[in-house]
Amino acid sequence: VNGLVKIFDVSAPWLNRLIERKPRQFVQAVNDIDFTVPAGGCLSIVGESGCGKSTVARLITGLHRPTGGEVRFAPGRSGAPLSAQMIFQDPYASLNPRWRVKNIIAEPLRELKLRETPAEVIERVEELLLTVGLSASDGEKFPHEFSGGQRQRISIARALASEPEFLVCDEPTSALDVSVQAQVLNLMRRLQDELGLTYLFISHDMSVVRHMSDRIAVMYLGRIVEEGDTEELFARPRHPYTQLLLQTIPNIAEPRRDRELASGEVPSPLKPPSGCTFHPRCPIATARCSAEVPAVRMLANGTRVACHLATGDTTSA
Ligand code: SF4
Ligand code: MG
Repeated sequence: VNGLVKIFDVSAPWLNRLIERKPRQFVQAVNDIDFTVPAGGCLSIVGESGCGKSTVARLITGLHRPTGGEVRFAPGRSGAPLSAQMIFQDPYASLNPRWRVKNIIAEPLRELKLRETPAEVIERVEELLLTVGLSASDGEKFPHEFSGGQRQRISIARALASEPEFLVCDEPTSALDVSVQAQVLNLMRRLQDELGLTYLFISHDMSVVRHMSDRIAVMYLGRIVEEGDTEELFARPRHPYTQLLLQTIPNIAEPRRDRELASGEVPSPLKPPSGCTFHPRCPIATARCSAEVPAVRMLANGTRVACHLATGDTTSA
């Protein structure tokens, strides 16, 4: 059984407020999104900032409500709806600075009554600290006493405390140095194997996404433009936007720098371009592209793509 997530036609008045103070204007932050996260696997959503990927994460974890459509979960291992937890980009902002780490991790244990006695709570907190590669004595410290990577380990421990089956991770390592980033990603992969977790992973970084995911969904201006198997997508990207993203992966000789795309900025979601919203930046756009929204087509290799000109065998509409 797959962990199933479907969202349709979701608009976002809160995003509207963030972008411009024009209360009557309505931004469709996420539009007709539909994807499946394989149980025990990882689906990544990748795209530039403002494409709606964080909105998807917040919708799935219930931090935002869809204005239309629905988010559906297939039953988890227990037969109950999947329990989801979210891990954020900036662990410092999501950890209470006045609490000792042991209390931060203990909170979900107490709230969900997962352990009965104080001694059992302490025991579980120490176990979680060790699980994420910290030491039991770290529980006595405060968040500011830790490095960025250690703080992300603390937020992972807190997320695991509530025994989730599904983790939604919104750019969990993008605030970290590259070497620390690799350590945290490796930890997350190990935890996925050991605990049978399912991940929805949000990132702007194609190399991170390649490392983590079984499947990748590429988002552009609120829509998924291509979705498919990770290796297939890297070997044979079908959508011109995916091809552009792959060109921006820095090589190892070139240290991390801001990866701006060569061909222009993302248009404002307030005034999305007509037809295919990627057409102003697309190197192969034709007249049809500005007139007609491309339908999502399923190719023979299982990739779904929304582009009039993308090639590959079409098996169904
Ligand atoms: Fe480019 Fe047209 Fe395909 Fe859009 S539909 S990605 S503009 S070729
Ligand atoms: Mg974001």
